[in-house]
Amino acid sequence: MARAYDAIVVGAGINGASTAYHLRLLGLERVLLVEKGGIAAGGTGKSAAAVRQNYSTTLMARLAKKSIEQFMAMRQELGQDGGYVAAGYHMIVPADMVEGLERNLAVQRSVGVVTGFMGEDAIAARLPWLNREGVAAVTWEPEGGYADPVRATEAYVKAFAARGGEVRLKTPVRALTREGDRVSGILLDDGPLGAGFVVNAAGPWSHFLAQSAGIDLPMRTVREQDTVWEARANRPLPEATLAVAIDGLYVRPMGGLRYIVGRGFPKVYLDIDPYNYKETADDEFITDVMTRLEHRIPTFAGAKLIDSYAALYDVTPDWYPFIGPRRGLAGYCDMNGGSGHGFKFGPAFGHELARWMVTGEVAADFAQFSHDRIAAGRLFVQTFGGNRG
Ligand SMILES: Cc1cc2nc3c(=O)[nH]c(=O)nc-3n(C[C@H](O)[C@H](O)[C@H](O)COP(=O)(O)OP(=O)(O)OC[C@H]3O[C@@H](n4cnc5c(N)ncnc54)[C@H](O)[C@@H]3O)c2cc1C
Repeated sequence: MARAYDAIVVGAGINGASTAYHLRLLGLERVLLVEKGGIAAGGTGKSAAAVRQNYSTTLMARLAKKSIEQFMAMRQELGQDGGYVAAGYHMIVPADMVEGLERNLAVQRSVGVVTGFMGEDAIAARLPWLNREGVAAVTWEPEGGYADPVRATEAYVKAFAARGGEVRLKTPVRALTREGDRVSGILLDDGPLGAGFVVNAAGPWSHFLAQSAGIDLPMRTVREQDTVWEARANRPLPEATLAVAIDGLYVRPMGGLRYIVGRGFPKVYLDIDPYNYKETADDEFITDVMTRLEHRIPTFAGAKLIDSYAALYDVTPDWYPFIGPRRGLAGYCDMNGGSGHGFKFGPAFGHELARWMVTGEVAADFAQFSHDRIAAGRLFVQTFGGNRG
């Protein structure tokens, strides 16, 4: 098949958009970004977009830090900001998590992340709204916070188009085309398109795309629910993004009195069909979230429910993404499996993958994201805190 493009990226979520932009930036001439819906139509558009560097491996902490730098430079680099607010990030933990967390903070500091435990006085002064029952420690990461997921994705798509990249929205890719050990392009409703390589950034639908070309992609699709609350005025409320590990809650400010609140690990993960799922939140979920929230942060009592919804994310066997080419299969690249915490890495993932594809240069730890780790039996090891969203 004739190669109309050097690269085709399927999926305009944060990962596809960032990859397409960085491929152009690094000099690839003919790059096409294809999306079946609109920009950020998948999990990205509904993401809480909480940003933290609190990870248990140097690889993830380093990439989270790099992404924050990219979020902060977006207006200058891309011409539009991604709504990044460095509101800070707290993790609030019970006694049995303190030791592991201490180890993780050391890992994070080793790659330059500013983070640490808060002292008693600081907790009392800066978190006056916190019910301290069962709380053994609180961390503080000043550069964490949150972004606007749609704005950030749009920023990449616009900058990609401004640099001569081609974008086709409302264009479903029906299949990948394959010639022996090479993925040769994609199949659209109006026919096939050839490419030097195809990046599968289709999020929870990546598995089906891979399957269309006989490519194995072990992945679960999980339904994640979120609620939006408006607190009453004139009460002390959190300013930073919070992970309340004791209650399995996350709380992400939206500005003003509004907050996104969802359930973090530990929780039940429900597998569903990405082509047929309930997009509204369950009543029990909303009640459960508010009960937990009011208990931990009593100043939320009487808050008004503004919105609630459910969206999808794609989960790999070890909760680390699949990124990069595969041994024995030319012309194909994974960029999927964000595993519920993949928004924050979009900028860094896109840059590192593009560098890998265009220059062949890749950091040894980043190369381990390749799906080849499954066959090699080299899954990332879960340590305390894991990566779960
Ligand atoms: C409710 C919720 C809250 C979350 N909160 C956080 C958080 O606080 N912090 C964080 O870091 N992460 C969070 N995540 C996870 C994060 O949002 C995702 O990991 C990330 O956005 C995935 O981006 P993506 O680009 O890989 O996939 P997606 O955003 O799912 O994008 C895939 C795109 O591919 C398109 N597509 C699929 N199939 C085709 C096809 N055949 N042809 C053309 N286009 C196709 C889809 O329409 C979609 O736009 C959350 C996720 C959810 C659902």
